[in-house]
Amino acid sequence: MSIDKSDKIYVAGHRGLVGSAVVRKLQSLGFTNLLLRTHAELDLTVQSAVDAFFAAEKPRYVILSAAKVGGIHANNTYPADFITINLQIQTNIITSSFSHGVKKLLFLGSSCIYPKFAPQPIPESALLTGPLEPTNEWYAVAKIAGIKMCQAYRLQHKFDAISAMPTNLYGPNDNFHPENSHVLPALLRRFHEAKVRGDERVVVWGSGTPLREFLHVDDLADAVVFLLENYSGLEHVNVGSGKEVSIKELAELVREVVGFEGELVWDKSKPDGTPRKLMDNSKIESLGWQPKISLKDGLADTYKWYLENVQQ
Ligand code: GDP
Repeated sequence: MSIDKSDKIYVAGHRGLVGSAVVRKLQSLGFTNLLLRTHAELDLTVQSAVDAFFAAEKPRYVILSAAKVGGIHANNTYPADFITINLQIQTNIITSSFSHGVKKLLFLGSSCIYPKFAPQPIPESALLTGPLEPTNEWYAVAKIAGIKMCQAYRLQHKFDAISAMPTNLYGPNDNFHPENSHVLPALLRRFHEAKVRGDERVVVWGSGTPLREFLHVDDLADAVVFLLENYSGLEHVNVGSGKEVSIKELAELVREVVGFEGELVWDKSKPDGTPRKLMDNSKIESLGWQPKISLKDGLADTYKWYLENVQQ
């Protein structure tokens, strides 16, 4: 299926890490009719507001990249917010998309939907086969409900809703909050500030042994457009880089990219989270998609963006 360049595409959450990358990608491909609303213009947790918006605008395609997101600390601290806001946003958008004739919807989740001790690399079929990682189960349960809603609407109403589950993402417009962000932006900022202050050491959380996979958000945006045009299956699709690094290796790489010369101190009082999280990418690869941006290039690109945007 090929999407017409003038078709109206609603990108929910267009100021976030994922949504902003999807907008950049669609614009670079020549799509001209993007429908965007800021949080102040449209509160996605309010069903009547979302429904009125869909009734008035009638988008043809919807990319559901709006969500309340955060790292291990934020998830642990605000469990009620994470489960409620995410359920509200996705339920409102999916139900309004269906009832106002959207042709296709793509729902975005995350790799934390999988059981804590899922087989590695994690295939799509591992969903709901075991208990979740407790530090982010609130967010994960909401995202699992989103996948199941897409499946239920496809089964009951033949609504073309698909789900993509990206691995840990990073890139421009990430959240660089010192405590509430994910590890990669948190470390970029911490190393940068330590370099500027001339500190001798930087504290990194946990043991450094957990393994994580990182995908540049521009690669994800490419996959999103690819799936929208090429996939209409019932099952969700993993989107990963296929490469994993330990948190220790990541910290060393960030130190190198930032140019911090001091030492690393590991704060073992902070949680490690799940020991390993690598996605099995074979499904999307068999459909004909592959990531292109290496972690080193992606980190350099993100640090450049940080220097130009966040630091001021
Ligand atoms: P997760 O992938 O859901 O566990 O989320 P995070 O990105 O928050 O954490 C990934 C890993 O990085 C965990 O093992 C953390 O303990 C570790 N980590 C090390 N330093 C930091 C930091 O400054 N912030 C965060 N969020 N995680 C850190």
